[in-house]
Amino acid sequence: MNYKKRMQLKKEHIDSRIEAANIEKGVIVLMTGNGKGKSSSAIGMVSRALGYGMKIGIAKFLKGEQETGEDLFFKEQKNVQTVFMETGFTWESQDKDLDKIKALEAWKLTEEFLSDPTIDLVILDELTYMINYKYLDEEEIIKRLKSRPKKQHVVITGRAACKGLVDIADTVSEVKEIKHAFRSNIKAQRGIDF
Ligand code: ATP
Ligand code: MG
Repeated sequence: MNYKKRMQLKKEHIDSRIEAANIEKGVIVLMTGNGKGKSSSAIGMVSRALGYGMKIGIAKFLKGEQETGEDLFFKEQKNVQTVFMETGFTWESQDKDLDKIKALEAWKLTEEFLSDPTIDLVILDELTYMINYKYLDEEEIIKRLKSRPKKQHVVITGRAACKGLVDIADTVSEVKEIKHAFRSNIKAQRGIDF
């Protein structure tokens, strides 16, 4: 078969797939894996949505010590509301009970996003850890996600996503680390890493 014919068949196949994909609904996108790019991908979807004047709720469940570039940018955006888990959660967290309380407080505010039909896109950044550390209840989260407004999109990020999140998500990507600059002793870079 010649090239032109092959391409024509391919185009027909793709066109039929596009025609079949006619369901309009809010989707859940889950970005997991050990490589760099999960939160950046979520931020990318925020900028896409902002371009269309959509309203966005962002919940960040692991807050670093300093504000990131996107935090500074989103503060200026009237269509973005942000909830931060109010603690310096770290791997060597000194106070698990306090972290749990703070996680629950942040989740309470996040639930408001998930019940507000005027919010088009909700970002749940680093949510996977809250479930894995049992700070938040997996079933409760899944129930909330299922009962959100029909057209609302959700993006969830974090390593080691549990099966419940994978099952409920419509799109799941695993970002694989091939290399990371940090391993060559290059420090985290402004505008790239934070
Ligand atoms: P990013 O926010 O850059 O998209 P991420 O959300 O995929 O990264 P996290 O696990 O949330 O990854 O880590 C956040 C920070 O750690 C970022 O500064 C990121 O560059 C860095 N980082 C991500 N993956 C790795 C890795 N495999 N090794 C070392 N540092 C990493
Ligand atoms: Mg991240």
